[in-house]
Amino acid sequence: MKLVLLGAPGAGKGTQAQQLVDRYGIPQISTGDLLRAAVANGTELGKEANGHMKAGRLVPDELVVGLMKERLAQDDCKDGFILDGFPRTQNQAVLLEDITDLDAVVNIDVELESLVARLTGRRTCEACNAVFHMLYKPPAVADMCDACGGNLYQRSDDNEETVRSRLDTYVNNTKPLIDHYKDKGLLVEVDGNGAIADIFENICKALDTI
Ligand code: AMP
Repeated sequence: MKLVLLGAPGAGKGTQAQQLVDRYGIPQISTGDLLRAAVANGTELGKEANGHMKAGRLVPDELVVGLMKERLAQDDCKDGFILDGFPRTQNQAVLLEDITDLDAVVNIDVELESLVARLTGRRTCEACNAVFHMLYKPPAVADMCDACGGNLYQRSDDNEETVRSRLDTYVNNTKPLIDHYKDKGLLVEVDGNGAIADIFENICKALDTI
């Protein structure tokens, strides 16, 4: 299954992707996670990406597409993958078509007004990238990941100012991809409001028909 998860920042792409990994046995590929790892490792790419990420802007297409091309060539992607946060521009979508075909694009639809609260309350595991929320999905033990016991932290771009800028970037650059994939007959629309388990069930039901 070759899958793209579309949706605004905070729509739940990462949370749903982690459950889809277990169901389909294929890897989640998050460009955000790959970029944060590059920043943490101090690579050339990380240095170039860092300023854009801190400001809530997109990292230039050529950097992100190069990263994705390399990742998709790895062995664990041969039976499929779940792309989380890529593509984010029309140009990235076109370049992705040169790298691979897709089975479906799931758009997780959430009212934009609710996303500031979702993102500023989000906590991420520094060891395994599992995603929690202070109100909607709190960990069993404060600041500790349920999955691996790692430390939970607040991403530096999950502050209100950067979140607003990321949402603007989404509306201007990424939202138009909904129509792009609708035109290609690949789009699956899922309501992203409500319980995480219900949203997951709706995604699975939709994917079962493909
Ligand atoms: P995310 O973890 O998906 O919210 O991504 C965090 C940040 O990484 C974004 O705000 C962008 O600065 C950058 N980023 C992630 N994916 C992409 C992409 N496909 N294209 C450009 N920038 C990206």
